[in-house]
Amino acid sequence: MADDGRSILTIDPAAIAANWRVLADRAAPGACAAVLKADAYGCGAAAIAPALWAAGCRDFFVAHLDEGVVLRALLPAARIAVLNGLAPGTLAEFEAHDLTPVLNDLGQIALWRGRPQAAMVHLDTGMNRLGLGPDEQERLAADPPRDLAVSHWLTHLACADEPEHPMNAAQAARFRAILARLPPAATSLANSAGLHLGPGFASDLARPGVALYGGWAAPGLRPVLRLQARVLQVRHVDRGMTVGYGAAHSVAQPGKVATIAMGYADGYLRAAGAPGRLCRIGGAPVPVIGRVSMDLVTLDVTGHEVVPGDLVDVLDGQWTVHDLAAAVGTIAYEILTGLGRRYRRRYEAWA
Ligand SMILES: *Cc1c(COP(=O)(O)O)cnc(C)c1O
Repeated sequence: MADDGRSILTIDPAAIAANWRVLADRAAPGACAAVLKADAYGCGAAAIAPALWAAGCRDFFVAHLDEGVVLRALLPAARIAVLNGLAPGTLAEFEAHDLTPVLNDLGQIALWRGRPQAAMVHLDTGMNRLGLGPDEQERLAADPPRDLAVSHWLTHLACADEPEHPMNAAQAARFRAILARLPPAATSLANSAGLHLGPGFASDLARPGVALYGGWAAPGLRPVLRLQARVLQVRHVDRGMTVGYGAAHSVAQPGKVATIAMGYADGYLRAAGAPGRLCRIGGAPVPVIGRVSMDLVTLDVTGHEVVPGDLVDVLDGQWTVHDLAAAVGTIAYEILTGLGRRYRRRYEAWA
């Protein structure tokens, strides 16, 4: 392998497929979809979609119509649903690519009526983001169109990652109440966290996303990502010197700094500053020092054997996207979807 100075992001499609099987077992007896919006949460739909299909997944969700078109080329026989709905003027594209819109208001429902292909309908039960709100649900229940084919009534939980939150039960109850007044169809409720809430949150089609990609800690789920940053330069620093922009880090005693090929342009967020961030060399933690730059990060590697060309561990099974997310004050979703395009990407097992 030529060392072109790039850092290496290794993504294990088999681990994602294995995670889907674990989640599908949880979802049973209902079916389990996979959410592949934002290019499979930054992991790369082109490699992930076929692995999920081979594992038995038949239902896929994306956010945008364009994402659905890309996914259709990869998965000719899958059901692909588009969460952001049916924008005016896009009907022909939905039909040409056999995509299923998730209808989010009565106007979208009106556009879809009369078509033999079934759509999904999003009933908002408390998120107040997308889907038919309470008034529109009333109007739909009062006079459900006979010429609207619905495969699934869908809702989305606001607080599924907080199992004790009263919103969870309240949303499930609202969903059941409106379903009782609508024509029968299958249901779709839980995301990754919702699958871990218990039997009251079962539906006919679960919609996990982040848990597939190692962004949700639960028994049986495997890590997916390994990120190794390339060391570009190593230098000795003395007491009184500073490191990086803003001279933000002052060297307290003689030591050694390694500069690695990774920065905020690669999704290694600058905003949260360095404290708490770690990389590892041979399992030993080495702290990030100074500011994160666009293309570079500096590490205190005092006492470690490091030379240019070496690889430093940034993310793996020990230090995960959760750990990095916690260290920089965000969520695993943001770390995953921000993963840079400049890494050398490999799709293979690494654990
Ligand atoms: C993103 C999304 C999901 C997947 O959520 P995760 O928390 O990643 O499992 C499911 N349903 C809807 C409507 C979404 O927008």
